[in-house]
Amino acid sequence: MMEKQCFEGLSLSQDLPLSQDDSFKEIWSGLIPCIATIPTLTAPQEAWPAGTMYDSLSQVLNEGFDENLFELSTEMPTTDSVTPYPSSTVPVTTDHPGEYGFQLRFQKSGTAKSVTSTYSESLNKLYCQLAKTSPVEVLVGKELPLGAVFRATAVYKKTEHVAEVVRRCPHHQNEDAAEHRSHLIRVEGSQRAQYFEDLHTKRQSVTVPYEPPQLGSEITTILLSFMCNSSCMGGMNRRPILTILTLETPEGLVLGRRCFEVRVCACPGRDRKSEEESKTKMQSGTKQTKKRKSGPPAPAPSTSSKKSKLASSAEEEDKDVYVLRVRGRERYEMFKKLNDGQELLDKENKTKTKVSVKHEPAVPSSGKRLLQRGERSDSD
Ligand SMILES: [Zn+2]
Repeated sequence: MMEKQCFEGLSLSQDLPLSQDDSFKEIWSGLIPCIATIPTLTAPQEAWPAGTMYDSLSQVLNEGFDENLFELSTEMPTTDSVTPYPSSTVPVTTDHPGEYGFQLRFQKSGTAKSVTSTYSESLNKLYCQLAKTSPVEVLVGKELPLGAVFRATAVYKKTEHVAEVVRRCPHHQNEDAAEHRSHLIRVEGSQRAQYFEDLHTKRQSVTVPYEPPQLGSEITTILLSFMCNSSCMGGMNRRPILTILTLETPEGLVLGRRCFEVRVCACPGRDRKSEEESKTKMQSGTKQTKKRKSGPPAPAPSTSSKKSKLASSAEEEDKDVYVLRVRGRERYEMFKKLNDGQELLDKENKTKTKVSVKHEPAVPSSGKRLLQRGERSDSD
C-alpha cells in the first residue's frame, strides 16, 4: 500500500511501456529513499548550488519519473554528477602552478623494453601500456585548503579533434563491467576516486582527494591508468591526447593545472626512445638546413646525420659520402632500407634525365613527331 501511494504522489508517467512498468516500479520505489537522502549523505544541502544535481533530482521528484534520471541516480553518489563550477567547452591545456605551486613529477623509468610506463621530459609525454599503473608525483608549495581534490581529464591534442570527447572504444567498454566503463582515465588504489561526466560538455573526468605527503616525503603520488590504446579503433583512433591534471577546491574551483601528452601503446620504452630521437634529429635537421642557406658546409664525414644527406640530395646533387653510426641492428636495417630507397630513386631519376637528354637531339622541328615520341617513352 505504501508503495502505491508513493507512486501516485509522484505521478509516474503513464506512457511507460507496460512490460517495463513493474520492474521500474520496484526499482523506482526502492530509489526514492536513496535519492531523498543523497544530499545529506554527501554534503550539506547548502553546498549544492543552483542548477546542480540536487535541483534536478528534487524537480523530478516533484514532476514525475524520467528515464534519464533513473540512469543517473543508480550511479549516485559516486559517479557522473555535476561540478558546481561549469567547465569550459574546450578545456584549458596551459600549465598554471597557481598560488600553491602545483607541480608534477614522474618517476625515472628509462626506456627498457620491459617498462610499462615511462615519461619523456623533453617531450612532456607519458608513454604507458593499456591498464598499467602510471604513478604521477604531485608537489605543492604550501598547505592546501581542506578537501582539495585532483581531477584528471583527457582531451584530444589537435585542434581538429579537440571538440570531441575522449572516451574508451566500444570494444573495451563492452568487455568491462565497471560503472565507469566508458572512462579512459582511471585512478587506481583509492576507494575515494569519483568518476564524473559533465552534464553540458559530456567530458569525463576522475577526481581523487588530495592527501598530504607522508612523513619524510614531499610528494603525493596519484596512480593513473589509461584503459584504451591510443590506436583503438572507434576510440582515440591514433589521435594524440593530453591529460589535464587540475588541483581544485571541493567546490570545483581550479587552483592549479598541469598538462602532459599521453600515448598508450604496447612498447612504451621503444616508442619514447624513437620519438625522442626523431625530435633530436628534427632539431639538428633544421640547424643543418639553416646552415646550408648561409653557404654549403664542409663535408664532415663521421658526424653528419643521414637526414642532412637526404635533405641536401633533394636540394641539389651532393656527391659527398657521409658515414652514419647507428646503434642497434633493427634501426640500422631501417636506415639502410631508407637509404636504399633513396639510392633507387636517384638512379631512376638519372635514367629519366638521361632518356630525355637522349631524345632532345633527335627532336625534329615538327611538333607532331615530338609528341608521338614523347608518348611512347612515357608508356615504356
Ligand atoms: Zn580501446
